[in-house]
Amino acid sequence: MLSDIEIAQQNVMEPITTIADNCGIKPEELEQYGHYKAKVSLDIFNRLKDRPDGKLVLVTAITPTPAGEGKSTTSIGLGQALNKIGKNAIIALREPSLGPVFGIKGGAAGGGYAQVVPMEDINLHFTGDMHAITAANNLLAAMIDNHVHQGNELRIDVRQVSWRRVMDMNDRALRHVTVGLGGKVCGFPREDGFMITVASEIMAILCLATSLEDLKRRFGNIVIGCNLDGDPVYVHQLGCEGAMAMLMKDAIKPNLVQTLEHTPAIVHGGPFANIAHGCNSILATKLALKLGDIVITEAGFGADLGAEKFLDIKCHYGDIYPDAVVLVATIRALKMHGGVAKKDLGIENPKAVGEGFVNLAKQVENMRAFGLPVLVAINKFATDTPAEIDMLLQKCDSYGVDVTLNECWEKGGAGGIDMAKQVAAMVEGTDIKPVMMYDVNEPIPTKIEKVVQRIYGGNGVEFTPNAKKQIQQLEAWGLDKLPVCMAKTQYSLSDDPTLLGAPKDFTITVQDVRVANGAGFIVCQTSNIMVMPGLPKKPAALAMDVTEDGKITGLF
Ligand code: ADP
Repeated sequence: MLSDIEIAQQNVMEPITTIADNCGIKPEELEQYGHYKAKVSLDIFNRLKDRPDGKLVLVTAITPTPAGEGKSTTSIGLGQALNKIGKNAIIALREPSLGPVFGIKGGAAGGGYAQVVPMEDINLHFTGDMHAITAANNLLAAMIDNHVHQGNELRIDVRQVSWRRVMDMNDRALRHVTVGLGGKVCGFPREDGFMITVASEIMAILCLATSLEDLKRRFGNIVIGCNLDGDPVYVHQLGCEGAMAMLMKDAIKPNLVQTLEHTPAIVHGGPFANIAHGCNSILATKLALKLGDIVITEAGFGADLGAEKFLDIKCHYGDIYPDAVVLVATIRALKMHGGVAKKDLGIENPKAVGEGFVNLAKQVENMRAFGLPVLVAINKFATDTPAEIDMLLQKCDSYGVDVTLNECWEKGGAGGIDMAKQVAAMVEGTDIKPVMMYDVNEPIPTKIEKVVQRIYGGNGVEFTPNAKKQIQQLEAWGLDKLPVCMAKTQYSLSDDPTLLGAPKDFTITVQDVRVANGAGFIVCQTSNIMVMPGLPKKPAALAMDVTEDGKITGLF
């Protein structure tokens, strides 16, 4: 089997102008970045405002193993397969961050014969969105420290500035830093820290904004910390929301690329799925819905985390809702939930597949709680045995959920024909009423409790004294009537990564509650979520190289 990059490099891409033309984008709406990438002007929304939206399919997954279960690969493969059966399908995905590229996880452009291309560019600098987000974020950081240096009219409490600098790299050495050292000319020393760009509120805002005006308004609403009276300080008080929006005037436009089989793909925005809401931009999804009859999009991690936030946050702000859910499952993850140790996941074990099914069943139930029809897609690996696959098919059958075997990684769209037919039938004539797990006007503890009880399957929530104090403060500020963005481990339905399967009788402990007021959600941390990852002992970077003629090697 060839590596992902070898497959991608053998592929002959269509010029991006052809892809745009095929999906109904006019030349004047296309802003090309070389031959194979382009941004799409937001003017297109005006032209297409009367075109009915296509059907939306959300790809999510069971509780994953650290390697990922293949949501991007399945999304891309499904798009390719739908086109193969004659449907006008478009894919909307997140764009990758450089941190994971050089770390362990790898890229986010799919895999095998289900990839978006040019994968090297998409995984590296792409169209510069990450740079623009980094610049807008750090402009605000510089404006805060400068404001303090120039007399601090707003009386910002330098001990309580929550806005941090960002960089798109895994660099643990920058987690905690001291800025302003060097005497009077360098400002007031204070503790600061870096986050990875994709964990920043600017990225979340990009993904939830519905226009440049809305982006600017949201920037103005960001709370950067407190003043000496303990009141919130907003970006509009500093007055730099206009300059920040200016830096992002191009980044806000969705990016158009293609799959290995020339299916159009809109790849735009990529917030972390633990600390933020974990899905591509609303604008990308809305654009795809205007252009395609069936749109496939994904949400990060398992359905309890990514899909819940997709539905309760992104759909809430975007006024969109899926027509169907494809829930990706792998034999290896089911065996893990069935109690098999990581080192033994390669050994045939149908019994463990059967025992691990409880996790899949719970995630199906979660999606049904949102009123959505579910298709389980088994992402087939070469190591899966017929007995294991049979066990899973039987379990799905007796539980009463539709299931399909997806071989897109190995065969491209041709490996997902049955999946495509089932999805096309599922979205035919649907009329699904949007459901939220809570009402945003309920108290913060009630909203969290509803997610914990209805989605995670837990008994309830405990709040640390710190979290209780923070909730009281948000209530006093009047900033509590927002959706909750749960920040939890992706490896368990609970907040304990070692509790696999479908744990019961557990409580969730909320330790930290902060408002991302520009994004419009309240981040509720259940454990110490990493906002600046580190590199592993053997970073993926060690295998990467570029030849004299610019050919990239070792990028997965
Ligand atoms: P997710 O979106 O769920 O994080 P990805 O689609 O990014 O997962 O896949 C994670 C990794 O697993 C990628 O490197 C991809 O190439 C690989 N992968 C996905 N499906 C398969 C498969 N069926 N066989 C082998 N490798 C796969």
